[in-house]
Amino acid sequence: MIVMKFGGSSVESAEAIDRVASIVRSHRDRHPLVVVSAMGKTTNRLLEMAEVAVKGESREALRLCGELKTFHETNFRKDSVVDEIFDRLSKLLEGLSILGEMTPRSIDAVSSFGESLSSYIVTQRFVDCGLNAAHADSRHFVVTDDRHTQANPDYTRTRERLQRLPDGIVVMGGFIGSTAEGVTTTLGRGGSDFSASIIGACCDAEEIQIWTDVDGILTADPRVIPGGHRVKEISFAEAAELAYFGAKVLHPSTVVPAIQKNIPVLILNSRRPESPGTRIRSESVSCANAVKSIACKTNITVVDIRSTRMLMAHGFLRRIFEVFDHHRTSVDMVTTSEVSVSLTIDNTTRLPAILSDLREFAEAEPAGDQAIICLVGENIRSTPGIASRAFGTVGGANIRMISQGASRLNLSFVVAGKDLRAAVESLHAEFFSTLDPAVFE
Ligand code: ASP
Ligand code: MG
Repeated sequence: MIVMKFGGSSVESAEAIDRVASIVRSHRDRHPLVVVSAMGKTTNRLLEMAEVAVKGESREALRLCGELKTFHETNFRKDSVVDEIFDRLSKLLEGLSILGEMTPRSIDAVSSFGESLSSYIVTQRFVDCGLNAAHADSRHFVVTDDRHTQANPDYTRTRERLQRLPDGIVVMGGFIGSTAEGVTTTLGRGGSDFSASIIGACCDAEEIQIWTDVDGILTADPRVIPGGHRVKEISFAEAAELAYFGAKVLHPSTVVPAIQKNIPVLILNSRRPESPGTRIRSESVSCANAVKSIACKTNITVVDIRSTRMLMAHGFLRRIFEVFDHHRTSVDMVTTSEVSVSLTIDNTTRLPAILSDLREFAEAEPAGDQAIICLVGENIRSTPGIASRAFGTVGGANIRMISQGASRLNLSFVVAGKDLRAAVESLHAEFFSTLDPAVFE
């Protein structure tokens, strides 16, 4: 059995879904279970209408809801089930506008509609295309805790429930689940890959295929520079590192359940199904190039924190991290000196509160519009001279933080957002002028 996950852009139109149907058909003998994201930008649109609703503008929220309904009906399917789903959504929006308050639980209730719709519509389309497809509501199968908007899976219960899947090619929505008590939850934005991985792990899948709109992992982030080469094979450790540092092809947590079960993950392109994609394996992949890929994370904020006492008092780091923990803001990169600590965050919603808490015991200054560049490759740990080549290459950019060591698979540094593109171009030219044909294409 294999899990095939299709992202929002792979199911953004009727033609796209038909393409998906034919891809699934060509894998029929491997017993696929299909996981789909919400169509196109549906999740964003749902969250937008919820925000409008809680401001009390219920008419505007219902208008947006009507627009989304029209989008689904004209592009995909008009029937009583779709009708009923949108009925429930509009009632929920009216409820939110009366309450005037949005809790994480209600965010999940609203954002779950995207995958409920897409999984139902895709199932029906598969049936119309002659596939023996059956819909399974993920909320009956994927059990999570109640940490709404960021729920964690309960593998034992999920595994048990998945024993009772219907026959045929099962289609499930990604991203959504429910607590053991049946309250709808979501796994976090972009969580459909995670769903695919959880389901694959719990069903002992032989492979997890993540179908996207790129040819797999490339040697450079295509959003930053064009012309990257396809990486044919990469290790789990390297892929996880890339994912953490923003390679948009894969959700970081995806790899975790799969690694633990030794299930290979393939990244494939639904627009070019003939392209072999990138295979992520549990073992390391030997390679003549020092670096396998350059990942970037843009729009990050650096926070420089200085102890107000001259020397770093004992307990200083603990206090700093307690502040970020308290505000549930994750820190990506950290560098320290005797009296100061710099760290990066990408979610700045709680930044004002974080700064004010930090300033009770330290000086804290944020700097926005920064970018992390991350060179990833298992050879980085054993090849001397990588850092000097890297820093020699990006000579023009001012490097603000440097980090290597933690995993030894990466060398990361922070530059100003405006210097990113030029820096990545030079690094790519430096590290990929010749390619190991066994690993790159
Ligand atoms: N639809 C959800 C989102 O946009 C989950 C996903 O696409 O993976 O975040
Ligand atoms: Mg998506």
